This record gives sequence, structure tokens and C-alpha cells, in this order.
Amino acid sequence: MNKQEAKTRIEKLKKEIETHRYLYHVLDKQEISDAALDSLKHELYELEQRFPEFITPSSPTQRVGGKPLDKFKKVTHSKQILSLEDVFSLEELRKWAEKNQKIAKDSYDYYCELKLDGLTVVLTYEDGVLIRGATRGDGQTGEEVTQNLKTIESIPLELQKSSKIKLPKVFEVRGEVVMTKKVFEKINKEMEKKGQPKFANPRNVAAGSIRQLDPQITASRKLDCFAFEIITAAGQKTHEEVHQLLKELGFKTNPHNQHCKDLPAVGNYLKKWEKAREKLEYLTDGVVVVINNINIQKKLGHIGKAERWMAAYKFPAEQAATIVEDIQVQVGRVGTLTPVAILKPVRVAGSTVSRATLHNQDEINRLDVRLGDTVIIQKAGDIIPDIVKVLPKLRTGKEKKFNMPAKCPICNSNVIKPSGEVNHYCSNKNCFAVEREKINHFVSKAGFNIEGLGPKIVEQLINEGLVTDAADLFKLTEGDLEPLERFAEKSAKNLVESIQSVKEIELAKFINALGIRHVGEETAIALAHQFGSLTKLESADLEELESIRDIGGVVAKSIYEYFRDRESQNFLKKLENVGVQVSSSKVQSGKLSGKTFVLTGSLESLPRDEAKDKIRSLGGQISESVSQKTDYVVAGDEPGSKFDKAKKLGVKIISEKEFLKLIGY
Ligand SMILES: [Zn+2]
Repeated sequence: MNKQEAKTRIEKLKKEIETHRYLYHVLDKQEISDAALDSLKHELYELEQRFPEFITPSSPTQRVGGKPLDKFKKVTHSKQILSLEDVFSLEELRKWAEKNQKIAKDSYDYYCELKLDGLTVVLTYEDGVLIRGATRGDGQTGEEVTQNLKTIESIPLELQKSSKIKLPKVFEVRGEVVMTKKVFEKINKEMEKKGQPKFANPRNVAAGSIRQLDPQITASRKLDCFAFEIITAAGQKTHEEVHQLLKELGFKTNPHNQHCKDLPAVGNYLKKWEKAREKLEYLTDGVVVVINNINIQKKLGHIGKAERWMAAYKFPAEQAATIVEDIQVQVGRVGTLTPVAILKPVRVAGSTVSRATLHNQDEINRLDVRLGDTVIIQKAGDIIPDIVKVLPKLRTGKEKKFNMPAKCPICNSNVIKPSGEVNHYCSNKNCFAVEREKINHFVSKAGFNIEGLGPKIVEQLINEGLVTDAADLFKLTEGDLEPLERFAEKSAKNLVESIQSVKEIELAKFINALGIRHVGEETAIALAHQFGSLTKLESADLEELESIRDIGGVVAKSIYEYFRDRESQNFLKKLENVGVQVSSSKVQSGKLSGKTFVLTGSLESLPRDEAKDKIRSLGGQISESVSQKTDYVVAGDEPGSKFDKAKKLGVKIISEKEFLKLIGY
């Protein structure tokens, strides 16, 4: 390859690599694999080594490989970075808007941006090429960290051409450097392995990584950068246009930012993200509300060191203080015992939380957390919140230390701790499975019949430490569920509601739900008929039990022992404490007892409400949605999607005629 060919190839490779960077980081698309992209980069690197005269500062190979510095140079920003007013409520936001309205007089709209919890940087381009990157510093003077910022792939080294405007020679952009929660967790796990202290939050690591004298370390931290402001006038008239232009030039901008036509629209945006932020890859602590029109921005200017035309709306704190009421031990899939703190319910980051993970005995020792302690908990995108600190000065002297039990709290097998491991394990390999099956049985149609609580979710709840036995289900809050995979605000609310709606239960169903050995549905009904109340059944002696028709000696003994077992007694007590009420009335023995119906389409012979009443009067139940727990789907005229779902699940579908026959109409 001659010099000219090399030059052409180098230019083409650079363009190709830039295209894929842009696709991936700005448009969130991937056309070629990481490995393929790496091999293109490698080819470019080799060519540049052979023809070093063609290396330019904006070449993708220049992202890594800078030499460590002795210290950072100071940089004076071309325009001072001002702060912005913090507001903590919608009321304060309204006051901020009113103040501006008086000065601006004109009407205006807004642009809302998620306020990412990171480090602000200033990027300077000359003739379209990144020549300098600096930290915010005190707003006037920062440090030059160009080498380090170049390692961040979402920062373009060379600007793309814009169709709309001609860029000025020197072009300045501001951005926020952040670290994803995932990368943060990974780094902390590595620190833990090495026995080094963990980082407090992603922002600290991001800031520390940018201020590394060795750019290799920065490169290893996998940082990201979202651009949010253009300092240089380039014809943009609104802040929304600023964002569009940034994207066009090759910067990554936050896709969740949004134009809002008025203050109520801003309010909706704030409400939405206060909840939804937990699902984001990054930490965000609020929303920057910006007055969109740049002329009005200029008119408003700044007051002291704060810009008037934007405000930082802060989300409710992600930390709160509460009391550790209990420490329970949960058994995970591979038998790991995880201590979980049961907390006095408290609002954190917009939802109520009642549990925090304690990870293992070492963590409990490190924090020195005791039963009864006042603690600070933090929700930071983790599945369930962490306890970050104990407040020992608030102790009364009655607090109790916690130690891992010697016997598994679920199955009573020995607890073991392999040497060199931090975790304790239950020695019984089936422990998790047994508990899981118990809960599955408890919530099944034969028992509490909880809609929307299938085996997958049960497994998830046990795994996340939210549930150690079926009684815990009744303590679940929306705040406990929302952070979980597969859950959104609505589904969390639905599940909590459906659990709460079954707290009152017929005796026969309750007996069956307990999963007493040898006691099935029929026996449970027989027992309910015989005793009529739970109290009477609990105190029944062996003779009484044996005298019941169809109940033999083995079954009677099993029932008798169940109610005398301390663990069952605790469980029953726990159910009572969480508000489960067993109705003492005799079981309904209607023809359709225990059967669940779903109606779809219109019925010719009778109105839907009448059909429902009829089903209920015969002891059946009505459900609005089809699930595995449905017995019959009654298909009237023009049935809807419930019909299709029933078909898919293999639920029995009956016609109106068959239905009428069933209810004896
Ligand atoms: Zn066990």
C-alpha cells in the first residue's frame, strides 16, 4: 500500500468507525458487532503506526493511549458556569414561574431535562475538532482533562456536518459525565473482592475517574456523556433546538428530555419521572426546567450566581431514617441465607418501603446494626434498599444484636458456612423449592386464589428477599414491588390490591391453603363443615378428628400435629397479625362452589349482571380477566380478547346455551 492509498483508507476507516459510534451512542442502534468494530479500529491503528503522519487528534485511535500526567492544567471557561435555583415542590416551582412571568411579560413554553447525577464538563471544538475538555471546577476555572474525556465514546472527537447551520470556528458545548448503575455495581464488586473500600455512589466514581492522571484508568471506567447545552451562538432560537442541533452534530443527548407547553405539562413530566427514574440506567436527582425561548432567557438573565431562566426541581430524597423492627432470614435459590431488615414503613423517593437487605452477617457486623436501631436507608436503583448507616446515639439500650441462626428458619436443617465464604447456607438442598411450593399452593385457586401471582413472581419475591413465607405477601407494598423486573407502577398496584382483596377467606379454603400433610380440598371442606371455626379446629383432639367420616388415623394425626407444631402456630399467628380473617360460616356448598367464571361478549337470554348474580348465588366466582385459575369462559355474541386468551391458555370455553344449562336457567 502506498502513501496515498493509506491516506484514503485511513480516512474511510475513520468515517466508518465514526458512523458506528454515532449509531450506537447517539441513535441507540447497533449495525455491526463490537468485535467487528474492534477489528476496524485495529486496522486503523496499524495503518497509522505505519504512516504516523496521518494521525489526527480526532482519530478514534486517539481515544486511548495518552501518557499519565503529573498534574492538570487550569482552564478558564469562556463563559462562567452559573448555578441554578433549587426548588423542592410544585409550589416552589410555581413561585419561580411567577417571578419570571413578571419580568418576561411574554408567554413562553418550557423544556424539561432529567438532571443526571454526574459531573459537568465543557468541551471545546475548533474547526469541528475536539481540542479541549475541562471540568466545571468553580464555574470560572476548571481543570483540563482532554485526554480523559477523549476516552468517552459518546463524546464526538470531530463534529458531524449540520444541514441547518454553519458552525463558528470555535464551538463550545456542555455535557454531564455519568456512570451507569450497572457499571457502578460492577466496580464496587471488584473493590470488594480486592478488599478495598467501596465507592459511595456513581457520581463519586465518575468524578474520580475524570480526575485520573492516568487516562488508562479513565478508559476502564466506561463513562458516558450526555450533552445538554451549547454556549456558542449558532443560530439556535430555543433550548429544544439546542438539543436537536447537539444530536445532529454527533452528541449523545438524553432521549427522555421533553418539550412542555406550559407549567401543568411540566408538572406531569415531574410526576412521571419521580416514579420512572428507578428504571433508568443512570441516577437522576431531579429535573432541570428550562424556559425554552432563548430571547426570553436573555431577557431574564441571572441573579447573583444563578440563572433565572432555569430551575432544578429536586426529587424527594432517596434516603430516609427509620427503625429496624426485626431481622428475618430468607433462603435463596441455592440455599443462601440472606438477612433482611424489616423496617417501620417509611416513604423514600416517593414510595413506601418496609424492607432492606442486609446481605450477610459480615455486613451486619460492619454496620453494627441491631434490632430496634434507628437507621438511614437508601434507595439507589437497587432492587431493595440498603441500610447505609446506623445512628447509635439514638439507642435506648434495649437494642438486640443479631446472629445467624444455627438452624434454617424455613426447614430447621443445620446452617453451614463454608470457610472463606461470606454467606451462610441451609444444608438442605430442597429448602428453597419446598418453601416456594408451599407459597404456590397457598396462593393457588384451591387456597387464597390470588390473581396475578403466578409461580414466576413467587420465585422472584422469595429471591429478592421480599417474602419468606406466605404471610409476608400481605405486607407487600407497592414500593416494595415497583423496583422489581417485570413490575411497573400499575402492575405493582394491581398485585397489592389483589392480595389485599383476599384477606377474608372461607374456612375450607383457608385450611386447604395451609398445606397440611394429607389434607386436600375434600378433607378441608369436611373439616370446615365439622368444626365451623378455626379456633375449634385448632383445639380439636385426636379422637374428635378421627371420628370424622373419611378421615383416617394418619390424616387425623397429621392435622393434630400441625396445630401443635410451634412453627405452624407462629405462622398462623403471623397470618392473623397481617389481617387475614377466616370466616367461621359454613362453606357455601352451591353447585358452582369453587368455580371461577369469566364472561365475554353479550348474552342473549339475560343481562350480564344477572348472569353474574346467578353464578354467585350458586357459589361461583367472577373474574374480569382470564388466567390459569379460570374454570369457564362464557362466550356470548362477538366475544373479545378474553376469548382468544382462553383459547391460548386452554381454559374451557362454553357457549351461552351450555352456560344456561349449567346454571339451570
Ligand atoms: Zn432450610
